[in-house]
Amino acid sequence: MRRRHLFPALIGLTAKSEGNIQGGFVFESQNEGHKIRDGAVYRPPAGTRRAKVVIIGGGIAGLSAAWWLRKQGFTDFLLLEGESDIGGNARWGQNEICAYPWAAHYVPAPNPESTLVRELFTELGLIDAAGALNERWLCHSPQERLYLHGRWQWGLDPDAGTTKTDREQRRIFHERVADLAATGQFKLPMALGRAPDARLDQQTMRDWLTAQKLTSPYLAWEVDYGCRDDYGASSSETSAWAGLHYHAARQHSEKGPFTWPEGNGWIARRLAEQVKAQTVPGVWIRRVEQVGTRWHLRTTGFNVETEAVIYAAPSFVLPYLMEGLPKPRFEYSPWLTANLVIEQPMETAWDNVIYDSPSLGYVDATHQTLASRHDRAVWTYYLPLVGDPLTQRRRLQSQDFNHWKDFILRDLERAHPGLRKNVSRIDIFRQGHAMRRPGKGFLAESQNWQKATEKPRFRVANSDVSGLPLFEEAQYCGVEAARFTLAALGLIKKLDRP
Ligand SMILES: Cc1cc2nc3c(=O)[nH]c(=O)nc-3n(C[C@H](O)[C@H](O)[C@H](O)COP(=O)(O)OP(=O)(O)OC[C@H]3O[C@@H](n4cnc5c(N)ncnc54)[C@H](O)[C@@H]3O)c2cc1C
Repeated sequence: MRRRHLFPALIGLTAKSEGNIQGGFVFESQNEGHKIRDGAVYRPPAGTRRAKVVIIGGGIAGLSAAWWLRKQGFTDFLLLEGESDIGGNARWGQNEICAYPWAAHYVPAPNPESTLVRELFTELGLIDAAGALNERWLCHSPQERLYLHGRWQWGLDPDAGTTKTDREQRRIFHERVADLAATGQFKLPMALGRAPDARLDQQTMRDWLTAQKLTSPYLAWEVDYGCRDDYGASSSETSAWAGLHYHAARQHSEKGPFTWPEGNGWIARRLAEQVKAQTVPGVWIRRVEQVGTRWHLRTTGFNVETEAVIYAAPSFVLPYLMEGLPKPRFEYSPWLTANLVIEQPMETAWDNVIYDSPSLGYVDATHQTLASRHDRAVWTYYLPLVGDPLTQRRRLQSQDFNHWKDFILRDLERAHPGLRKNVSRIDIFRQGHAMRRPGKGFLAESQNWQKATEKPRFRVANSDVSGLPLFEEAQYCGVEAARFTLAALGLIKKLDRP
C-alpha cells in the first residue's frame, strides 16, 4: 500500500535527470582473499621477521589486543593487516568535504560494566576523570528521524499512523525487555553477563515476538530494524537472544551515542597511531603452522616466526590458513555501504531512516563537524543484504556499479524525490562476509569454535568469536586474547577478567 503511494514519485526519473555521477567500487579486496583460498602461487618470501607475538588483523579486535599489550609495557609484537588501510570494519575515508566511515560509525555511551571501553574512552578524552561524557563527540541534535507515510518525524519509534494497540504493544515489548535485562544475562560485552538462557537462542526473534502475541506491524518493523542494524539480518534470521540483546543490553540514556565524521575510524586511527612501529599493513597471512613450540607464518610479503599468535582476522578465513581445522558453522551477512557527495545540502538528522526500505537509510557524515554551514555534504548509506547469505553474496558481486548506483538512488528518492540531480559522486563498498550473523544457536556454535581452535599460545580474537559484531565485543575479544597470550608466555601470572 505504502509502496504504491511512494513509487509514482520516481516515474520519469530516468538517468536523463541525473547529472554526471562519478564514483566506483572501492577496496574490492575479496580478490586477495579468494586467491589465498584457492592456493595461488606467490613470489618467494622477502626474508623472515621475528617477534614474540604476532597479531593477525588490524580491525578493532587486533588493535585492542595491541593497545592492551602496549599498556602492559610489552612491545615485542607485530600487527599484520592485509589491507593497506588499517581499521577493518572501522575503516574510514576522507575527501575535500569531510572524513566519513566505510562501515562502523558509532559506539553507545558505555554502560558501567563496560570497563574496558570506559578505560579507552577516558584515555582518548571522551570521558573525563569525573566520568562525564565529552559533549563534543556525543551525537549532536537532531540525532534521528524516520520517513514514515510520506513525511519525516523525529526519532525512530514509528509514530504517525500507529493505533492504540500498536502503542500498547510497544509498551509491553519494552516491559518484557526490561524484565529480561534484569536477569543480568544481557551485558556489553556479553561475556560479563550471567549465563544466557539457551531457550532464547533456540528460536528466532520473529518467533519470540509471535510467541509473545506481539503482532503490531510497527513493532515488527522496529524489531526487524534492530536486527538489520546490528547484525545485517532480518528478525526471522536472528537468534531471539541476540535480537533481545540489542534492546536489553544498552542502558537507556539521554546521552549518546558517541560518533565522529569518520565513524569508529576516529578510534581506530588513534589506536593505530600508538602501535605504528609494530604495524605492517598490506600483508596478507596465507599460512599459519605450528612448528615445534613456535609458530611459522607465511604472508604475501615475508615469513614470520613467533612464539604466540593472536588471530584477530575473521574466523571463516582461518581454515584456509591452518591445516586440520573444521570450518566454523558461522553465517556472515553481506553488506553494501556507499558514500554519496551531496552538492546542495538539505536539512538532515545524523541518522536518517526510511520506513519500509531494504536499507537502513543514511548517516550524514558532516553532522558532527563543527562547521555551522556546509557547501556540500557526504551521506553514508547502509544496506544489509538480508536473506540467504550465499544468494545475497552472489547478488552483491554479480551486479555492476550502475545497478547499485541506481538501486541506492531509487531507495533514497522515496524520501528525497529528484535526489540524483543533487549527487555528484557515489563510491560503493561491497563486503561479502562483512560481519557474523548471530542466527539461531549461535551461542553454542561460538563455544564449539573456541574449542576447535584451542592450541598452545594461539588465540582467536575477532568479534565473530563472541557472535555479536559490536565495538565492545571486538575490544573485549582482543584484550582477552592479549591477556591469555601474556599468561601463556609466563609474562603475567593471573588470568583475572579485565
Ligand atoms: C556496515 C557495517 C556497519 C557497522 N556499524 C557498526 C557500528 O556502528 N558500531 C559498532 O559497534 N559496530 C559496527 N559494526 C560491527 C564491526 O564489525 C565491529 O564493531 C568491529 O569493528 C569488528 O572488528 P574486528 O576486529 O572484530 O573485525 P574486522 O573489522 O573484520 O577486522 C578484521 C581484520 O582482519 C583483516 N584480515 C582478514 N584476513 C586477513 C589475512 N589473511 N591476513 C591479514 N589480515 C587479514 C581484515 O582486513 C580486517 O582489517 C559494523 C559492521 C559493518 C559491516
